Amino acid sequence: MELYVHIPFCRQKCRYCAFASFAGQESYREKYIELLLTEARNRKQEVSGPVSTVYIGGGTPSLLSPSQLSVLIAGLREVFDLDGVTEFTSEANPGTVTGEWFDAAVSCGVSRVSFGMQAYQENLLRLLGRIHTFEDVRTCVHLARKAGISNISLDLIFGIPGQTGEDWNNTLDAALSLDPSHISAYGLIPEEGTPLMHDLDAGRLTLPDPDLERDMYSLACEKTALSGFHQYEISSFARENRECVHNIGYWTQVPYLGLGVSAASMTGISFSDEGMTYFRSVNPDTITVYEQQVLSGITPEAERISPSDARFETVMLGLRMNRGVSERDFYRKHGVTIGSCFGGKLETLKKRGLMLHEGDAWKLTARGFDIQNSVLVELMEE
Ligand code: SF4
Repeated sequence: MELYVHIPFCRQKCRYCAFASFAGQESYREKYIELLLTEARNRKQEVSGPVSTVYIGGGTPSLLSPSQLSVLIAGLREVFDLDGVTEFTSEANPGTVTGEWFDAAVSCGVSRVSFGMQAYQENLLRLLGRIHTFEDVRTCVHLARKAGISNISLDLIFGIPGQTGEDWNNTLDAALSLDPSHISAYGLIPEEGTPLMHDLDAGRLTLPDPDLERDMYSLACEKTALSGFHQYEISSFARENRECVHNIGYWTQVPYLGLGVSAASMTGISFSDEGMTYFRSVNPDTITVYEQQVLSGITPEAERISPSDARFETVMLGLRMNRGVSERDFYRKHGVTIGSCFGGKLETLKKRGLMLHEGDAWKLTARGFDIQNSVLVELMEE
């Protein structure tokens, strides 16, 4: 079982961000930690078995003070058995962290930090509404290492309006110069209602050409490979044994409990003659409604995922990863072969050069990765 904790505070809202995160709520942090711990107690029974990984995300977890972070993690330890946790990640915004914060994180058990670096160039960071510079990222990586954290991930964004191929090349070089153990490279997806989308709609900004964006993605794959990383998921590149175990859990249907505003959960996994089923729920996406729910002792409404939907999710999530979907794992989970559910379609996609059947696994080819969404739509069709 995995545990996710959402911290919905940010110093300033980034211009592309549609996550549940709010600026100007500093005074609410103490209260929010109490709510998280109340929710943890209310939902303790949904945790089956020991917790294997913890991920504190946001928002900006590094906006919690060192003592608030310590209170939160100590409180979680009182509710859940975290002794067997193999990976404990916290996200951090390079514009907000101090050496004391890292010291507190390490003494509470945090073993991995994920920084949103996003870009090297100050003009692009400003356009995105980020509150830091690349020099802040360099300082944070140094402080994290000094505190004893060696497992460091950097998030990067390509496809930013005005970003050139050379900008992206320099961003990759700058990230690699910090010798992280993991890099996530995401194509920018403009979200409805964000200031960035308004600027695009009004013609004040233009997205890079799709061919350039594809070249940027290829460059990320090439440069990370040349620096000793391997790609294990569409957007994720890791040094040996530094893959994000928590995220692999999401893609392989390991159950998880999500605490906090907008956090999703997958719990109540069970197996019957029909196959695997589980429940999915999502917390309210505003602090006020979340507070009311937690204080009333109400848990979020859960939707039962049927065996056929669970089978599709195994394929959909598994195909994000380079290792693909194992036939053995599929049978172990669902009690039927992947061939009997998707066989004809998989063979057709293979003939079209979009899928591979290697050993025990079905995987997307490079061309299949490029048009992953349409491949999934074909697999979903009756
Ligand atoms: S720091 Fe992250 S969560 Fe906060 S506004 Fe920016 S992108 Fe959104």
